[in-house]
Amino acid sequence: MSARLLDGNDIGARIRAELAPRIAAFTEQAARPPALGIVLAGADAASEIYVGTKLKSAGEVGCRTDLIRIPAEAPVEAVLDAVRRLNESDEYDGILVQSPLPASMGGDAEQVVFDTIDPAKDVDGFTPVNVGLLVQKRHTLAPCTPSGIIELLRRSDIPIAGARAVVIGRSDIVGKPMALLLLHQNATVTVCHSKTRDLPAVVREGDIVVAAIGRAGFVQTDWIKPGATVVDVGINRVTDAAEIERLLPADSPRRAVFAKRGALVVGDVHPGVVETAGALTPVPGGVGPLTIAMLLHNTVAAAEERIRTPRPSARV
Ligand code: NDP
Repeated sequence: MSARLLDGNDIGARIRAELAPRIAAFTEQAARPPALGIVLAGADAASEIYVGTKLKSAGEVGCRTDLIRIPAEAPVEAVLDAVRRLNESDEYDGILVQSPLPASMGGDAEQVVFDTIDPAKDVDGFTPVNVGLLVQKRHTLAPCTPSGIIELLRRSDIPIAGARAVVIGRSDIVGKPMALLLLHQNATVTVCHSKTRDLPAVVREGDIVVAAIGRAGFVQTDWIKPGATVVDVGINRVTDAAEIERLLPADSPRRAVFAKRGALVVGDVHPGVVETAGALTPVPGGVGPLTIAMLLHNTVAAAEERIRTPRPSARV
């Protein structure tokens, strides 16, 4: 039997529609729309695409977005200056610094930059203050991808409370916050990583499996408990024809897309898992749209919170 596909485009559109009246009410009260400042350093091709999508989606729901570009060869201080200006400005409710920063800015640049963002405007939920609030289940701004996955599960009527959840990956932006959010929803959570012993056996225990690894088609069909819900976070651009043959059956229509474009985006889960799982997020069209929807949700939440508790010293 084939798994039910969990449509992230549809659920993302519903979340955006629900934000519309909140955006209208904020705009009326504040005499301006919720505003997001995006800082993009360098010219990474994937980052350009991600930022373009964020700008377009925010504009479509009636948020203001401004893009601050920093040259790739600039020092990290240039990014820090941009963040400080956005922190101080009363015109902006949210700040997003697109990752990755150029390698020339230094190995700890991202941490230093994220540490500088005002937690009240941290729409990615990456600052230590917001991570701490998430751990204690007191958060307003949680990381977008894992909070989008919770919305996806909730709105698809996948039971979380009491379920065995297996998260593969322990990054600060996906794996760890995912584990915390599932725990807050009363799942029994196991977090796996590259040192996990007998990963297939651990994954087989999962009623819910979240794969956030960054390796194309890594999670195999026989690792999945029949009927389990599988959430595929991975975004992997494959250009190798042999790899496509390993991943897609001969009659897959996606092979023609690969032949035409010379590249295909695939997830961390082998597409054959559709035969074992009860429900599965497709790639593309699964988790990705939820990440964008939750970014807009966080921007609106940050804007509403700032109006409720204005800072006396904020400057325009
Ligand atoms: P990271 O590279 O930061 O983390 C990858 C994790 O996978 C690490 O914890 C690593 O373990 C683990 N891992 C690597 N190899 C193995 C292995 N052989 N067995 C078990 N675990 C392994 O990646 P991210 O969390 O940032 O992203 C993961 C994927 O999700 C990527 O494809 C990324 O593009 C995608 N992504 C998609 C988003 C969306 O909106 N759809 C948003 C964000 C990310 P260890 O810690 O031991 O090294």
